[in-house]
Amino acid sequence: MKYLSTRKNNENISFKDAVINGLTNNGGLYVPEYIPEIPSDFFEQIESYDDLDIAFTVLKPFVEGSLNDAQLKSILAETLNFKIPVVPVEKNIAALELYHGPTQAFKDVGARFMSRCLSHFNSNENKEVTIIVATSGDTGSAVANGFFKVPGVEVKILFPKGKVSAYQEYQMTSLGENIHAFEVDGTFDDCQKLVKKALNDQDLRTKKSLSSANSINVARLLPQMLYYFFAYKQLKKDLKGKKMVVSVPSGNLGNVTAGLVAKRMGLPIDKFIAAHNINDTFFKYLNTGEYAKKTSVLTYSNAMDVGDPSNYERIDYFYNGELDSIKEDVAACRIDDDATLKEIQDCQENNNYTLDPHGAVGKLALSELLKEDEYGVFLETAHPQKFAKVMKKALPEFVEETADLNECRKTQLSNNYEAFVKVIS
Ligand SMILES: *Cc1c(COP(=O)(O)O)cnc(C)c1O
Repeated sequence: MKYLSTRKNNENISFKDAVINGLTNNGGLYVPEYIPEIPSDFFEQIESYDDLDIAFTVLKPFVEGSLNDAQLKSILAETLNFKIPVVPVEKNIAALELYHGPTQAFKDVGARFMSRCLSHFNSNENKEVTIIVATSGDTGSAVANGFFKVPGVEVKILFPKGKVSAYQEYQMTSLGENIHAFEVDGTFDDCQKLVKKALNDQDLRTKKSLSSANSINVARLLPQMLYYFFAYKQLKKDLKGKKMVVSVPSGNLGNVTAGLVAKRMGLPIDKFIAAHNINDTFFKYLNTGEYAKKTSVLTYSNAMDVGDPSNYERIDYFYNGELDSIKEDVAACRIDDDATLKEIQDCQENNNYTLDPHGAVGKLALSELLKEDEYGVFLETAHPQKFAKVMKKALPEFVEETADLNECRKTQLSNNYEAFVKVIS
């Protein structure tokens, strides 16, 4: 499989190089040159395959030429060593719980896959790779955990000051060793801009082997397709002729993009819902046809506080910029903080199911848009414990596990490119 740029140039490189580069030469994102289709009998028999076989079948064509079968299988086995269950919540609605990994958010899947790919690709090189990553909370933790003590890899995490939860901060700052966390005086979008600028800085990149671990990296994005297949496998017998709709709490749109690729491979999901908080750039785009990036604002679902979602560029590319075709596959919904809190309370009371603030946005969006002939799944993207402050606001009886913030190791960083370059060179 070759990888091309969303901002069409003549770049045409392997999976390995796309993972190492992170961002294309001309500032675009890598996309596979085509999306392979899986024959329909695979879906007819999906219950008879185990998850690792499914994962192997789905990802094999995307890594062809860079990983052999044994290497891919071994990376997948290490990546997927926790459960990913579908849990019924109410009539015709179930949660896909993606938070049973080591840092309790779905980002563990992509981060573990990517870290193992990179350390494999780097095992014959004697050059150190520096991973730079911007986070609104969960990516930092997952990447830190995934790369912790990986030889030849240094990780620099940028997170917005005062805008991540105590638990998230603890998870990304307490490891030390090859993991370095920087608290940036700015928003998530500012962090993301610094990272993108460094990846586009050809001068810097000749001196330093840089890569990114944001969902702009194909090795983060592609494995995120897998849990949609696992969800379908678990749900198939309960669909009873209903169409499957998946609501995805969305920020940078990586998760929803992965779902759209899975759908194009043939996975029988009828529609996706990009569920947003009031950071509604994509929601507005679907309604008006105009993409107008905004400054992100802080909400209770902070991992979705993104005003200029990077994967919009991939969606636009895959659909040739045709708004009507995008809208056939994905709808969007916008949920504010008050409604989010209320949904956490209602779901606890009515279903005895504890939603985290992101899952609450996903579930409420689903309830608003779900039709009679549809069965809805929303992604529970993180464990409620990661957002204890918000949870206590919604559910006074919520018990917080304490994070030892004394163990945090972080460096302050101004929102300034020169300052950032200094800490990565
Ligand atoms: C990252 C994250 C999201 C948003 O996912 P995208 O792929 O950026 O759209 C949603 N919920 C949680 C808990 C997250 O960590």
